[in-house]
Amino acid sequence: MVNNNFEATLEYAQALDKEDTLYNNRERFHFPQHNGKDAVYMCGNSLGLQPKSVGHLIQQELDDWAKYGVEGHFKARNPWFSYHHLFSERLSKIVGANKDEVVATNTLTVNLHLLMVSFYRPKGKRYKIMMEAGAFPSDQYAIETQVRMYGYDPDDAIIEIAPKEGEHTLNDDDIIKAIEDAGDTLAVVMFGGVNYYTGQFFNLEKITKAAHDVGAYAGYDLAHAVGNIPLQLHNWKVDFACWCSYKYLNSGPGGVGGLFVNEKHYSNKEIFRLAGWWGNDEKERFLMKKGFEPQNNAGSWQMSNAPVFNMIAHNASLDIFEKTGMQALREKSEQLTGYLEFLLKQIDHLSFEIITPADPAKRGCQLSLLFADRGKEVFDALTDNGVIADWREPNVIRIAPVPLYNSYEDAYRFYEILKNIDNA
Ligand SMILES: *Cc1c(COP(=O)(O)O)cnc(C)c1O
Repeated sequence: MVNNNFEATLEYAQALDKEDTLYNNRERFHFPQHNGKDAVYMCGNSLGLQPKSVGHLIQQELDDWAKYGVEGHFKARNPWFSYHHLFSERLSKIVGANKDEVVATNTLTVNLHLLMVSFYRPKGKRYKIMMEAGAFPSDQYAIETQVRMYGYDPDDAIIEIAPKEGEHTLNDDDIIKAIEDAGDTLAVVMFGGVNYYTGQFFNLEKITKAAHDVGAYAGYDLAHAVGNIPLQLHNWKVDFACWCSYKYLNSGPGGVGGLFVNEKHYSNKEIFRLAGWWGNDEKERFLMKKGFEPQNNAGSWQMSNAPVFNMIAHNASLDIFEKTGMQALREKSEQLTGYLEFLLKQIDHLSFEIITPADPAKRGCQLSLLFADRGKEVFDALTDNGVIADWREPNVIRIAPVPLYNSYEDAYRFYEILKNIDNA
């Protein structure tokens, strides 16, 4: 339940922290420092903080490698042969899936391509892909080259849904209508779960249903949704999804990505997948036989053996998620984001508007501030005063109060610093 009696004082923010049962998670992370104090870190949507346990877990892996050499594949404390198995259970709770529907593997854009190879099989008049206009550049490039690979013109084969004139976010009904209009020309709907720029969370269940109603697949890039908003990929009947782990999942720069494939698809051997040995049936992996036999789970989209050193922080971070739970995080998130929004509305000397939806059901913990002018100047002043936020051309400052490690006091400190920036 979001509180409506917020107060814009430090004492009030600190009182909320006292009541916050998740407050102590802060202690589990390293905060960048500014003048000897924790910076006001509002950038977990771009790169999550480092769990303090990562250092010794990396040392453990180095020790096992030194001690065992190749035998570490089976003798390491977390055997490398099956290292990826450490993640499926915990990830499945974060994205709302069965354990066999998820795997930690590759990286985001690579997974997007691999999944599109399986689910985008254009044929006859069904060759179009629908996505949100202004999607993250990597997604745009991926989809553009997917359609080119089959000889289509991106301008024809990609349908982009843009907000109405004068609006910043998409209307659910407009998305559904566009899917209905595209009808049997549509092969795949590929949306971001949360738009990286506006912070809008889309109604994935409705979009998936609309896609299925016209005979198309629905797949999502969950880079900004995973670990931010509780998801129900299985129950929503999503066909496929992928994500990175270094944003809300705090797994370090370039950390291992993840993917979801609905069980009705991974169990269907007719679904084409590009293969590598790690996707093969594990029992036969070392028999060196001809002929790819996919595992009967999403792990069949794996290519190579697990990049262990690139997964250690993921292991550390998912432990914290396991202890905390997405539901508790979501409750705090709505309240903390609501508080920061309340504070921002007290400021009237700067020319920004919040373009992230005001409805908590349509957003996670990110707020995007669109400046009419001097946005970059304000951003630089925030940085000089110990705020770490994120600047997006042409005129947006994105801030993310992350419920796992940000406090109400962080929100208040952000507000105080912003309030004291003149508009001179
Ligand atoms: C962060 C992000 C990416 C980054 O892709 P990588 O392959 O991990 O470099 C791609 N798409 C979206 C929507 C993102 O937010």
